Amino acid sequence: MKRDKVTFPHMGNIYVGLDALFERFGYDVIVPPKITQDTIRTGSKHAPEGMCVPFKYVLGNFIQVMEKQDVDYVLMAGGIGPCRFGFYGHMSKLILTKLGYTPKFIILEPPAGRWFNFTIDVLKLAHWRIKDIMPAIHWSVAKMELTDRLEEELYMKRIAYEPQKRKAEKLYIKYVNRIFKADTYEKLDEIKKDAFEEYESAIPIDNDRDDIIDIEITGEIFILLEPFSNMDIVRKLGEMGVRVSRTSSSSKWIRDRILTFLADKNKEKSFERAIRKAEPWMKVPFGGEGIETIGHTVEAAEKGFDGIIQVMPFSCMPEVSAKDVLPDVAREVGIPFYSFIFDEHTGGAGFQTRLESFVERARDVKNKNRKSDRTVVTVA
Ligand code: SF4
Repeated sequence: MKRDKVTFPHMGNIYVGLDALFERFGYDVIVPPKITQDTIRTGSKHAPEGMCVPFKYVLGNFIQVMEKQDVDYVLMAGGIGPCRFGFYGHMSKLILTKLGYTPKFIILEPPAGRWFNFTIDVLKLAHWRIKDIMPAIHWSVAKMELTDRLEEELYMKRIAYEPQKRKAEKLYIKYVNRIFKADTYEKLDEIKKDAFEEYESAIPIDNDRDDIIDIEITGEIFILLEPFSNMDIVRKLGEMGVRVSRTSSSSKWIRDRILTFLADKNKEKSFERAIRKAEPWMKVPFGGEGIETIGHTVEAAEKGFDGIIQVMPFSCMPEVSAKDVLPDVAREVGIPFYSFIFDEHTGGAGFQTRLESFVERARDVKNKNRKSDRTVVTVA
């Protein structure tokens, strides 16, 4: 029997979990081509000029798939609240239809109390195979979480120590490929064990090096998670001797925003905590991750990070609003702060120079604090 073909846009490593989900639902999964300059060029050509940069990547990615083959379904997350994310699915459908591509769109809206609609959407997605839904969701989330753990706990923390350039990245790619192909939970356990052992022996952490600093990156979710769109900021920081942390990940975003029923009801979600911390400066969420960026800056200072970087797309209303208050917030809580705006024209050389000067500033502040005996909490 012919299987339906499904695709979705890239956003960092989210494809690993989405592939696993659709494969269990009985689809032929078309993972889109990796995001490149060609993706944004294609998306910018067909998107309204003033539309958000992430939308242009998403649209470009869809067109790249559809130029090569027919697709029956497209999955897109929906959005609520005062920003343009809620338009992404509907607008890309309109543009693709004009270009002659007519796949069915499944726009998965965050439940936000409307559980009936959400359940119907998920049932459609699962071809009404009710029994398969929860096992497939758990399997997909397990893959996503392991990929994020390896990225955050191993790759992002060890670039600063690698004896051989890009060793941390090569290992990360190798293990993500193994996760992608794994078909049992036992295999995931084996991959986790192998990855932690191999990183430990190939790139050990040297705790005696006091030139290494800790920086957290925060901001708009797509730019935060998609390395091409943020000019590979994690790797560049790592190569400058920085252990990098990130305030969100694919699995955290999916759990917090879409699959909210998986969250522990008794535990405060990280975005809820960030909103609480932002309260002295902003009381009401204003779309996207804007208010959380403020709260995460406060938290980064409390946790003892040596600096915080906001990343955002050009013309992103929530992040621009956050940026207006962030220098004051960072000054008050005592953490070096810098903000990078990315668009389809962001150039490499200027970015590298600004990043280097921020890292040097953060290192200087750390050294001065050390001399004045300020207590700094070590970041795990
Ligand atoms: S958060 Fe910013 S970039 Fe994302 S949809 Fe909203 S306005 Fe656009």
